[in-house]
Amino acid sequence: MSSKKVKLAWDDLQMSEREQQALAEYLTFLSEGKTERKAWQLLESWAENRGFLPLDDLRSFEQGQKVRLSVRAKAGILAIAGRRPLKDGFRLVAAHIDAPRLDIKQNPLYEEEGMAFFKTHYYGGIKKYQWTALPLALHGVVFLKEGHKVEISVGENEEDPIFTINDLLPHLAKEQYDKKLREAIPGEGLNLLIGHNPVNEDGEERVKHAILNILKTKYSIDEDDFVSAELEVVPAGKARYAGFDRSFIVGYGQDDRVCSFAAWRAIEKIEKPEWTTIVLFADKEEIGSDSNTGMKARYLENFVAELLALQNGTYDGLMVRRSMARAKALSADVAAGYDPNFAEVMDKRNSAFMGRGIVISKYTGSRGKAESNDANPEFVAEVRRIFDEAKITWQTAELGKVDQGGGGTIAQYMAVYGMEVLDCGVGILSMHAPWETSSVADLIMMMRGYHAFLAYNA
Ligand code: MN
Ligand code: MN
Repeated sequence: MSSKKVKLAWDDLQMSEREQQALAEYLTFLSEGKTERKAWQLLESWAENRGFLPLDDLRSFEQGQKVRLSVRAKAGILAIAGRRPLKDGFRLVAAHIDAPRLDIKQNPLYEEEGMAFFKTHYYGGIKKYQWTALPLALHGVVFLKEGHKVEISVGENEEDPIFTINDLLPHLAKEQYDKKLREAIPGEGLNLLIGHNPVNEDGEERVKHAILNILKTKYSIDEDDFVSAELEVVPAGKARYAGFDRSFIVGYGQDDRVCSFAAWRAIEKIEKPEWTTIVLFADKEEIGSDSNTGMKARYLENFVAELLALQNGTYDGLMVRRSMARAKALSADVAAGYDPNFAEVMDKRNSAFMGRGIVISKYTGSRGKAESNDANPEFVAEVRRIFDEAKITWQTAELGKVDQGGGGTIAQYMAVYGMEVLDCGVGILSMHAPWETSSVADLIMMMRGYHAFLAYNA
């Protein structure tokens, strides 16, 4: 009896030493880069060590010149000048470094019945019930009125306290059980438990008072400083290997830090490319790519304009438009991994299977491809060719059944410039859950695939 073996990324994977090191570095990236600011901080420091200079320090942009741009410390771009002039276009891999989480409200602190809480407003698409009764950490920045920045990071070190959000005991959950899953925990119910040891003096709200004392002593912040704060509640703890065979990685924020990391490792390997090579890390993808750090903002266009001005000695708007329109891009984002537990929402013939390599999605979108970037088959053919030549194990997938799924990525905001764009990433299990699951073999294939695309010499 002979049956055709399904081609897996694991077959002939033969990880190099460099790739083994990359896995260890990826775990660190997930464990330490838990906010968009921290993820960019890590990427920027790695880029700096590899010779990427700040855009402002550049006097020319000749082949092999490496440059970096920080976008409000929450997003960023890295580029290496190609042999061909930038006006002929460039190769781009663009990912996002924001992830679903709970943000602290501007007026967050309150006390009730001897317990103090922070009110939160969730960011991105979460299943609210997943965020109760688990250890949570708090990361972010507070800017005092005169502009001084205070950094807060609590809950990751062994000796740190953590925070949590209470859930209802099963014994009293009769009515909660009967609610719809989406209503069982309301948004206004996601209140972070932050203390209950009161000050020993007369007065109201003695616990709140005690918390304010701690905040003042430890961080020099007052209650009204939350107005100018950006504080994010994320799962506490490190990313880990999962499975007896260590074949999975479980960690927070892998959508889309797994693609961000692969994009970094791909450009890190490149020295003197044929085409100018750009890797971009966007913020705000999870809430629609708005704000001046999201992909709808024009920092990529402005960055390309700056580099063209360095190459040509002057700003030429037409040249910027031509360069953007001639570019070829991978929108680096994750796909829904096929999960046998939820087979009913997937089209088995068009799903991203774990361990079957890097995923290309010609379109994402929902219910009739709405709000999708539908890649041109001409470009899909080119990417296939690149992957096959480089012996990359790849697969194609949609996000769920036609009438079930779909979702947006940043692809459409790159496509507006006329460039060729294709969604390309890996499958993820438990996407948007506090702990997401990726495949080691797929991650390796993605690093190889992004590198093959960026370094393609034709
Ligand atoms: Mn994503
Ligand atoms: Mn997402």
